[in-house]
Amino acid sequence: MRRWQIAALGVAVGTTVFLGACENGTQEPTGPSADRGLVGAPEGPMMGIHWARGEHPGPASVHGRPQPGNMTWHNGAIMTSSRTYAIFWGSGAGAGDKTAGITAFLTNFGGSKYIHASTEYTGTNGTVGTGSAFVRSFTDGSAAPSNAPSVSAVQSEVCKVLSGAGVTPVADGIYNVYASTKRGGAGYCAWHSYGSCNGVPVQFAWYFNLDGDSGCDPGTPYGSYTSGQTNSQGLAAIANVTAHEVSETITDPRNGGWYDSQNGENADKCAWSFSPNNGGLVAFGNTTFKVQMEWSNAAFTAGTGYANRYSQKACLDGVVKY
Ligand SMILES: [Zn+2]
Repeated sequence: MRRWQIAALGVAVGTTVFLGACENGTQEPTGPSADRGLVGAPEGPMMGIHWARGEHPGPASVHGRPQPGNMTWHNGAIMTSSRTYAIFWGSGAGAGDKTAGITAFLTNFGGSKYIHASTEYTGTNGTVGTGSAFVRSFTDGSAAPSNAPSVSAVQSEVCKVLSGAGVTPVADGIYNVYASTKRGGAGYCAWHSYGSCNGVPVQFAWYFNLDGDSGCDPGTPYGSYTSGQTNSQGLAAIANVTAHEVSETITDPRNGGWYDSQNGENADKCAWSFSPNNGGLVAFGNTTFKVQMEWSNAAFTAGTGYANRYSQKACLDGVVKY
């Protein structure tokens, strides 16, 4: 799901409200199309929200309605290539194997077979490419939000960190903000959005600390970011949602890219669906991570993809089909 404005999200993530109401047959959930009217609020939209397992508030998961088919283009740009950054915000945000593991993941994401699953999409500026270069990480030990922040708060954090480090923002940047903040009652694991720092357009994403969070855990095997090591659950979880948000960002960076009639972007449509190969582990260089598959319009049309949670054969894993 994408483009749920904050006010709508406050309702949307109250999935128990939806489920409870629907079980009683008294109330339909508010569809994403209804939320389009809220886009244009002072801050940017949350896009590509990565709902926790079982928390997706879309109609199909609640009412068994058919899911939309292929995504369509919305007359804007895609990212022909990108530069990625990691910002660890709050005490212990990058602790354990997270800083090294995310560095390894993002370093090997560009040029991977997995990224090929997102390269069939075109925009005003060309075609999504396989180039994605990890630039650096930052550690911001200042207090992270105590609960789910606004989009503008995360944008402010990105701009503050860059400014504080004397790093110039770049228009092809994807700034991934990994916080110490726990998910609490939020029904989602992560989201992406866009804005600007000092007039330079930027893309960014927010990730909760998912340690011990079963709703946002890809499950074992967790993979290995370096020889002889097993990824921690917390690292495995944020790597999986990073694959989701970065794949969405390169195909729909600023609201003009690719999504379906229910606002589902390429990762949303295959969320929580893992490769049937290799226990779900996907190779990124010499590393392995358990990351979800990505929707392919071409595979859906041809009927050659792996099934998503709605049994639509459209998902690619970058292992065999890409
Ligand atoms: Zn998403």
